[in-house]
Amino acid sequence: MIPYGRQDINDDDVRAVIEVLRSDWLTQGPAVERFEQQVAAYCGARHAVALSNATAALHLACLAAGLGPGDLLWTSPNTFVASANCALYCGARPGFVDIDPATLNLDVDALEQRLRAARTNGQLPKLVVPVHFAGQSCDMARIAELAREYGFSVIEDAAHAIGARYQGAPVGGCRFSAMTVFSFHPVKIVTSGEGGMVLTNSDTLYRQLLLLRSHGITRAPEQLQGASDGPWYYEQQALGFNYRITDIQAALGASQMGRIDAFVARRQQLARRYDALLADLPLVLPHCHPDAESATHLYVVRLRLDRVKASQRQVFEALRARAIGVNLHYIPVHTQPYYRELGFAAGDFPQAEQYYREALTLPLFPGLSEAEQDQVVHALHEVLV
Ligand SMILES: *Cc1c(COP(=O)(O)O)cnc(C)c1O
Repeated sequence: MIPYGRQDINDDDVRAVIEVLRSDWLTQGPAVERFEQQVAAYCGARHAVALSNATAALHLACLAAGLGPGDLLWTSPNTFVASANCALYCGARPGFVDIDPATLNLDVDALEQRLRAARTNGQLPKLVVPVHFAGQSCDMARIAELAREYGFSVIEDAAHAIGARYQGAPVGGCRFSAMTVFSFHPVKIVTSGEGGMVLTNSDTLYRQLLLLRSHGITRAPEQLQGASDGPWYYEQQALGFNYRITDIQAALGASQMGRIDAFVARRQQLARRYDALLADLPLVLPHCHPDAESATHLYVVRLRLDRVKASQRQVFEALRARAIGVNLHYIPVHTQPYYRELGFAAGDFPQAEQYYREALTLPLFPGLSEAEQDQVVHALHEVLV
């Protein structure tokens, strides 16, 4: 089976991990700091906080932004459930804004309309979490304008988008947001096994994230609220968590960061090749906004169902039967049983739902060979025409 995504691990990565295993630190040691500094420098952000995964990173980012009971968080329905669950972890209420069918990102016109309505009924969100779907940045300049006008904070869910650029600058620099979250799960652009990171330019948010990552405990003399009892002294100042990442993982992530540009370039090259080889099939191919340079985490096509002889499910199953590991990103979050329990219903976000009925994710990862890609293309020709 050709998978839809796969990590790329080389001998340098293996050596970096072994070096940590032979060192004094297995967790929260020098490799974590190195990884953080490397990603912050790459993205042009002041601070980075590495965490056990991006779900934990979203949770802490929401807490650091002050999200709590009674507050609202809005995100895209076309995302992984974690982008909305972080609201519920904080006791806040999640809401959604439908997608733009061209970019598959949160539709900023729809966002503006909902904000206008929300202002009149006192239901404005405290946080908006734009998701850079498939690695393409949302229209952050416009979202930041709306944030100023309507008084919400922005956390970018950039789990797909490390290595992407927006208006010429790297995603993660937080020019248009309070914080940006990355994931280092093995299917993402760069991996640490499991891992996540929050980037920010705010010293206050940075301190808060550090505190919450490790039980709400600090040892920093300048941060103590009381007098120190001695060199062993620490204070718990907030209800934090154990969301630490290990040095073993951080060393892998740092080693991978050395190849990020090559990973993204290879993904983009394969995507351009798909564009050319699939042009004559009844498919809508990915569209990239001129302001965005995608990290190309996913290559998603939409079936033109009126011109395809089979149903979406038949196409999917026929490709799997031909050992092509297609996937589907995403089931609209608001249609999940847990979200229906919260009052959401099918029909609430028609663009995301229509997209879901036509979408298909094709295999794309740096190690995909052109021969394997030809196999995918050949199978699609067989199944679709
Ligand atoms: C993968 C992913 C996450 C969660 O990342 P983990 O590191 O697995 O917790 C969150 N949001 C999006 C959009 C993702 O794709």
